[in-house]
Amino acid sequence: MAKAKKPIIISVDDDPQVLRSIKRDLRNQYRQDYRIISTTSAEEALTTLPELQKAGEMVALFLSDQRMPEMLGVDFLEQAKAFFPAAKRVLLTAYSDTNAAIKAINDVQLDYYLVKPWDPPEERLYPVLDDLLEDWQSNFVPPFSGIKVIGHQYAPSSHAIKDFLAGHLLPYQWLDVDYDMKASELMLSHHMTGKDLPVVILEDGTHFGNPPVDHLAQSLGMNTSASSELYDVAIIGAGPAGLAAAVYGGSEGLKTLLIERRAPGGQAGTSSRIENYLGFPSGLSGADLARRAITQATRFGVEFLSPQSVQNIEIDNQYKRLQLADGREVMAKTVVVATGVDYRRLPAEGADRFSGAGVYYGAAMTEATACKNKHVYVVGGGNSAGQGAVYLSKFAKQVTILIRREDLTSSMSHYLIEQIDQIPNIEVRGRSEVVKACGGDHLESLFILNKDTDEAKEEPADALFVFIGARPATEWLPNNLLKDQKGFLLTGREVRNRADYANFWRTEREPLLLETCQPGIFAAGDVRSGAMNRVASAVGEGAMAIKFVHEYLGEI
Ligand SMILES: Cc1cc2nc3c(=O)[nH]c(=O)nc-3n(C[C@H](O)[C@H](O)[C@H](O)COP(=O)(O)OP(=O)(O)OC[C@H]3O[C@@H](n4cnc5c(N)ncnc54)[C@H](O)[C@@H]3O)c2cc1C
Repeated sequence: MAKAKKPIIISVDDDPQVLRSIKRDLRNQYRQDYRIISTTSAEEALTTLPELQKAGEMVALFLSDQRMPEMLGVDFLEQAKAFFPAAKRVLLTAYSDTNAAIKAINDVQLDYYLVKPWDPPEERLYPVLDDLLEDWQSNFVPPFSGIKVIGHQYAPSSHAIKDFLAGHLLPYQWLDVDYDMKASELMLSHHMTGKDLPVVILEDGTHFGNPPVDHLAQSLGMNTSASSELYDVAIIGAGPAGLAAAVYGGSEGLKTLLIERRAPGGQAGTSSRIENYLGFPSGLSGADLARRAITQATRFGVEFLSPQSVQNIEIDNQYKRLQLADGREVMAKTVVVATGVDYRRLPAEGADRFSGAGVYYGAAMTEATACKNKHVYVVGGGNSAGQGAVYLSKFAKQVTILIRREDLTSSMSHYLIEQIDQIPNIEVRGRSEVVKACGGDHLESLFILNKDTDEAKEEPADALFVFIGARPATEWLPNNLLKDQKGFLLTGREVRNRADYANFWRTEREPLLLETCQPGIFAAGDVRSGAMNRVASAVGEGAMAIKFVHEYLGEI
């Protein structure tokens, strides 16, 4: 069998002495897994890139000096990006050039800048490059031998499988049976027919026709049943709040169970780029955040069940009995409810019929590649709609954002409005509303109401992405947990402020800050009444909840 080619790291610096030491440091750390190419000429490096591309080589990382006589490092990195868009880009700068480097983070989506000198490399060079290379590896898809999904683009069952695999960060190849010759060949060789669609073929050749996601999860070795009878803390929901609670619970020695009904990351996991999370100056995708957090939690011994949902909590003296969707039960001394929110459904006529068949809720990332050269619509004026539109604009021919208000200023962050303004294929249409979705087996057109003229006009539409706010995922919780009028869980002082407080709270002390009206059941993140709806605040609350779990465990 042909040996796989090592990915390449390319370093460029016009100063031969500096280049020698970069080369030495890179070789010492990475030569085992990467081929190191170094050159003093940015021009020369650029001329070799098409050849590397033709030869099927992969560049994992470019490391370039900023001040070079032939061209600036940022210009080199920008041009190099055209050949290897997934490669990580790092700029080497002098202290005096850091402003240019920070600007480049926005202009050329620089991944990092390193200030010279980088000694000792163990502290100042390798941790940064290790992190970037790990990131690159996790998104790098070698010639495809993994899971294949064959189906119709507009079948909701195909969408559900793609969404499940993408949510669990499992790379897969999508083959549209209507367009891809290989799809029919594969179906034939696996004795599958049109009736079996969508078809999933695993790496070892095992194949399924229209598998339910929990079947697929089990075949892929995912854990959907708990290994113990009793846990110190059971965390429900693996969004940022639940993941943070899991990391703190596990790292502080608690026997911790994390249960997630769909995929780790929650709402944040569907975000193409979170730009305001502390410590990530060039932003990070929600999938990256979820991958890092779930790795961290598992490292601390947290048990993770997914896909598995909790359908009820019963209180049995000091224990909490969690009823799972598959009929099993798990006992825990404490519970952290971190179930966040669900997308609100679009109230337009016909929209439900096309859900997963052209109308998508928060699935911009899963379906973006299928929108190549198409005209897609985004409904909503918040940051999630803005991020979705920016991401989709990289694939679609035209993205139209529909909002009821005049413009985006009152609902979207300034940085996103500026980004959108600069993208030529995004149009923002104010005072408009989708009133009807039409089509055959998939969405084909939308009736869009102009709120000024009160006239609805039909427009062809290839897809509609809906981001119109959310409602709390709490309808399954028992009635003995107090909620506010919108269904968000009351905690701490809000429980204390209720007139009927004494009917629910029967303990001498007052409820702790994130404690619900049932001692030992806590709420963290967006599901909590008064939450801030930010990744950072959800993470903060998840971590705080574990502090309160300790206090409660100390009492019983
Ligand atoms: C597209 C998008 C972009 C965003 N961008 C940003 C941003 O740039 N910056 C920022 O600060 N914020 C952003 N936000 C907001 C941020 O993502 C949320 O505030 C944050 O995810 C809330 O975290 P959470 O853990 O409380 O809940 P969620 O993220 O909603 O996670 C809840 C989890 O619980 C699971 N769950 C629900 N019910 C059950 C059950 N019964 N059993 C088991 N599991 C269950 C769900 O499947 C989900 O995974 C964005 C939101 C969206 C939708």
